[in-house]
Amino acid sequence: METMLKEKIDILCENHILPAEDFVLLLENISPELSAYAAEKASGIRDSIYGKDVYTRGLIEFTNYCKNDCYYCGIRKSNSCAQRYRLSEDDIFSAASYGYSLGFRTFVLQGGEDAYFTDDVLCRILVRLKDAFPDCALTLSVGERTRESYQRLFDAGADRYLLRHETANSEHYSFLHPASMSLKNRKECLYTLKDIGYQTGAGFMVGSPHQTGEAIAEDLIFLRELSPHMVGIGPFIPHKDTPFGDEQPGTLEETLFLLSLIRMILPEVLLPATTALGTIHPKGREMGILAGANVVMPNLSPREVRKKYMLYDNKICTGDEAAECLGCLSGRIESIGYRLSASRGDHIRRKNNV
Ligand code: SAH
Repeated sequence: METMLKEKIDILCENHILPAEDFVLLLENISPELSAYAAEKASGIRDSIYGKDVYTRGLIEFTNYCKNDCYYCGIRKSNSCAQRYRLSEDDIFSAASYGYSLGFRTFVLQGGEDAYFTDDVLCRILVRLKDAFPDCALTLSVGERTRESYQRLFDAGADRYLLRHETANSEHYSFLHPASMSLKNRKECLYTLKDIGYQTGAGFMVGSPHQTGEAIAEDLIFLRELSPHMVGIGPFIPHKDTPFGDEQPGTLEETLFLLSLIRMILPEVLLPATTALGTIHPKGREMGILAGANVVMPNLSPREVRKKYMLYDNKICTGDEAAECLGCLSGRIESIGYRLSASRGDHIRRKNNV
């Protein structure tokens, strides 16, 4: 059995895709030995393309107002316990300036779907940041918008966009989201973003309620098809004030194994070892890098608001200053033989890559 499973991994490295049933088989048979095999292969692929560099993105969580009501998310509209905040344009600029002085050359502006941040407001922020920091990549992660809106934001200076598809199975999607949201629209947004020219990131939560092996296989096949530049995956972690507050979290071993598989599916992908992974295990992010990830996203949000951007319970790094986060992470990454890179960390498109 073990030999047969390892052969499937070898085929995946070669072909970058497997039939859905083979993905399911692998996921049903995760073992320490199989995970170690996959991690070694995935690390080899990552090292051959990006070397020992791990890219940093400074995350600025600029609003936790949200019009959506995703059942898993701590900043969903119906969570009346959430203390809402919105950073001013000056606050966002200060967070980025401070990040720049610490060496960050990529900023990710993430938030709920907050109507205050119209295209005009966001464009003004982007232009100001691009003017001040022309050598930096600007990434947005503010949910679903129209093509016109995405285009305006791109023209104003946004280089990248993160929008996890959350699950590629439409039944599962409607279990995680209210009827006002659809997988179809989510996917369309992703294709539009790519079409406009953004470096685009998709992704999903591992172990979200009602997720099956078949649904994960669909996620992996969708990722291959979309071929995004970035993929964000992390374990689902329940938030006590959401409908999924009593559900079980996703596991470390499954998340790590999936990181390895995604590296094989999309060899050049920029793949973060996420904060959620660091939340379910003290060494989660280091293990993520060793499984094939090559990005970390330290928090640059002002300390006063960090505890309010609570997507899930017990989120780490909510008490530290940005400099402490960076120092801590760089020590952690060096302890496993990698180094934090200050460069923009653009995606490498190689000849034979789709
Ligand atoms: N409004 C933006 C940003 C959402 S927050 C958007 O729609 O893209 C960023 C990501 O956090 C989400 O895409 C989701 O995958 C993840 N997330 C939300 N709640 C979570 C939870 N309880 N556990 C783990 N990850 C969660």
